[in-house]
Amino acid sequence: MTTAATVVAALATGWALWTLAEYLLHRFAMHMLHGRGIMSREHLEHHVTSGWSFDVTHLMSWAGMLLVGAVVWAPLGGVLVGPAAGVALAVGWAFGYFFYEYQHAASHLRAPRTRYQRLVRRHHFHHHFGAPMANHGVTAPFWDHVFGTHQRPERVRVPRRLALPWLVDADGEVRPAFADDYVLVGAADPDARLLQLDRVRAFASAAPAD
Ligand SMILES: [Zn+2]
Ligand SMILES: [Zn+2]
Repeated sequence: MTTAATVVAALATGWALWTLAEYLLHRFAMHMLHGRGIMSREHLEHHVTSGWSFDVTHLMSWAGMLLVGAVVWAPLGGVLVGPAAGVALAVGWAFGYFFYEYQHAASHLRAPRTRYQRLVRRHHFHHHFGAPMANHGVTAPFWDHVFGTHQRPERVRVPRRLALPWLVDADGEVRPAFADDYVLVGAADPDARLLQLDRVRAFASAAPAD
C-alpha cells in the first residue's frame, strides 16, 4: 500500500531529480556543445544578450520535460514503488522544472524580493558575466558544490551594456540596494565589434569582455 509519506518522498525525489537534470543539461547539453543542437543554440543566444523573452521554443521545452515525466519517471516509479508514487515522482519532476523556468525568467526580469531570490540571481549572473563554465545550477547551487563548479565572487561584475533592467537606475548606475552584490564594468554603448565579440564569446562559453 502506498502511504502519504511515500507520495511525499516521491514528490521530493522527483524535484531533486529535476535539480540534477537542470545542472547536467545546462553544463553538458547547453554549454559544452557550443551551439550544436537547438537546446545549446537557444541557450547560448540567451547568453549573447542576457535578456529573457517568451519564445515558441519554450513550448517545445515544456512539452519535452512533461513527456520525460510521463514516459520515464511515472512508469519507473510505478514499477519500483507503485502507481501513486510513480505519478508523484513525475509531478515532483514537472514542478521542479516549472519552478526553474519561473525563477530563471524572473531573475532576468525582476529585482529579488527574498533572500532566496537574491542568492539565485547572484549565482546565475556570475555564471552569465563572470564564469559561464561555473554555477550551472539555477534553482539549487547544491550540485555546483558537489561537482566543484561553485564560484562566489565578492561582487558580480556586470558589463554595463548587458545590465539587467532591474539592476540599474535611470542614470544607468547600480541601484544602492544591490551595490553590495554587483559592480558595473565597461561602456554602456558598445560598438559593432564588441557586439560581435559578445556572440563569439557566448558560443565559446566564455564570459563577455569588459
Ligand atoms: Zn540566464
Ligand atoms: Zn548558461
